[in-house]
Amino acid sequence: MYEERETECHPLLQGDRDEDFKTISLCSSEMESLTSICEVILPSLSPNSLTQNHDNNKSDDESIKLFSTLSASQYPIPNKVARLLVKRAFFEAIMVVRLVLKLCSSRVGTLLIGGSLCFSVKWPYINKFSEISLERREKIVQKWFKHHFLTPVRLGFVFIKSLCLLAFFSQVNEKSKNPTWEAIGYNVATTKQHPNQQNNRPLQKNMVEIINETDHTLVNSLMQKGLHVTENLKENICKITCDVVIIGSGCGGGVAAAVLAKSGKKVVLLEKGDYFTPKDYSSLEGPSLDQMYESGGILPTLDGKLMIQAGSTVGGGSAVNWSACIKTPTSVLTEWAEEHNMKLYRTHEYASAMDIVCERIGVTDKCVKIGFQNQVFRKGCESLGLKVEDVPQNASKDHYCGSCCFGCPTGDKKGTDSTWLVDAVDHGAVIITGCKAEKLLFTENGEGKRRGKRCVGVLSQLMNQKISKRLQSLLEDH
Ligand SMILES: Cc1cc2nc3c(=O)[nH]c(=O)nc-3n(C[C@H](O)[C@H](O)[C@H](O)COP(=O)(O)OP(=O)(O)OC[C@H]3O[C@@H](n4cnc5c(N)ncnc54)[C@H](O)[C@@H]3O)c2cc1C
Repeated sequence: MYEERETECHPLLQGDRDEDFKTISLCSSEMESLTSICEVILPSLSPNSLTQNHDNNKSDDESIKLFSTLSASQYPIPNKVARLLVKRAFFEAIMVVRLVLKLCSSRVGTLLIGGSLCFSVKWPYINKFSEISLERREKIVQKWFKHHFLTPVRLGFVFIKSLCLLAFFSQVNEKSKNPTWEAIGYNVATTKQHPNQQNNRPLQKNMVEIINETDHTLVNSLMQKGLHVTENLKENICKITCDVVIIGSGCGGGVAAAVLAKSGKKVVLLEKGDYFTPKDYSSLEGPSLDQMYESGGILPTLDGKLMIQAGSTVGGGSAVNWSACIKTPTSVLTEWAEEHNMKLYRTHEYASAMDIVCERIGVTDKCVKIGFQNQVFRKGCESLGLKVEDVPQNASKDHYCGSCCFGCPTGDKKGTDSTWLVDAVDHGAVIITGCKAEKLLFTENGEGKRRGKRCVGVLSQLMNQKISKRLQSLLEDH
């Protein structure tokens, strides 16, 4: 029942073009050091180092040969690493990486973090990092992992390494291909799409996509969606009024928007991400992370020990998650209710709300096809005599696309973008995409009220360089 995809994916999900890397924010000496560190992480191999495997066919041999000639020091990988660093990393991480690059850019700095490995027999007897042979550079990096006092340098290197590997393996050419994929046996899922999904943008009728607007068109576009709009020209603020403002269109925001809009409230939903539909999805890791994930998928904790992943697009996490839908187990509900005194979780209302959500997003536990890793996992558990149960998913029983985490290209997964948000816009809710809520606006409550302040609206930044205005969403009764 599915057709091979013929349409083009969304330009934002296609991957970077060369010119995107021309402007970089690191100076030339930092770039030189970065390039030589990238080479240590992923060097090219000499053809002699490849052992011939007679089982391989000719095309495998060719792709492996090509792989061996590639290195992360080749353009545009270092430029892409620099751009990712400046665009995505925390200020602290940028400072640590720049410190490492600065040290590597000078002879004294390299001596400090590389020791005797930077010595040379020729004048000036000490080499900076980029002048040292690859073999010695590798030894220097190994040292960074051994000595306690080099911890900041090691942290900087680990950060560069993560960005470098991401850039190297997710970088695509104009045909959306990466030259290493064939050699490592990686394929981007071939997209098959349900015919009903083609050209279907169910939220568009009540959506303002900031990416398509300018300062001149914005007011008109908001008014066309039935919003009352005024302007504060002095402060360059565009004001809209409504009954309810919801920040974020994910699992929570989507359900709240639908329920409140159905109850007759005028709902405005602010979403900082953009709107993509199944026909837009490319299944390409690099651009999909960049456009559909919080911080482009690069969001480490401050200590760098953990990466946090969250969706940032219309539908939030539900647009990129793996569709596993496990109802809160009774033992957990009991713990919440009894140990944390949240009685709601043991009520009939909570149980029935969970049933309603599962029904609306089409949860089934009758999945027919499971992925290879899970087949292996199941077999292992069964061999050990462990109980194995199917994980219910919010997609049809024969759903299997392998790339739901980059947006389900079949359109079969039922995230909020194809369920609750559709209900919300059908009942008059307006979704504003590319709109980042930045400040909650409060007013003093009258005397005698339990809470001193009341929230009366939200001030947002509009994520489009063509727009200088900010958006104020104010609650009607204020
Ligand atoms: C790759 C991946 C796989 C997952 N797999 C599963 C799974 O199989 N099963 C499961 O149960 N869970 C899974 N999850 C987790 C699940 O998706 C999340 O728990 C769920 O989406 C959280 O819902 P939420 O409403 O709290 O926030 P989200 O769904 O994350 O929505 C938050 C939304 O708010 C927007 N936003 C944030 N700040 C602002 C702002 N200031 N202004 C405007 N908009 C803003 C974001 O862009 C985002 O779209 C997965 C998550 C990921 C990332």
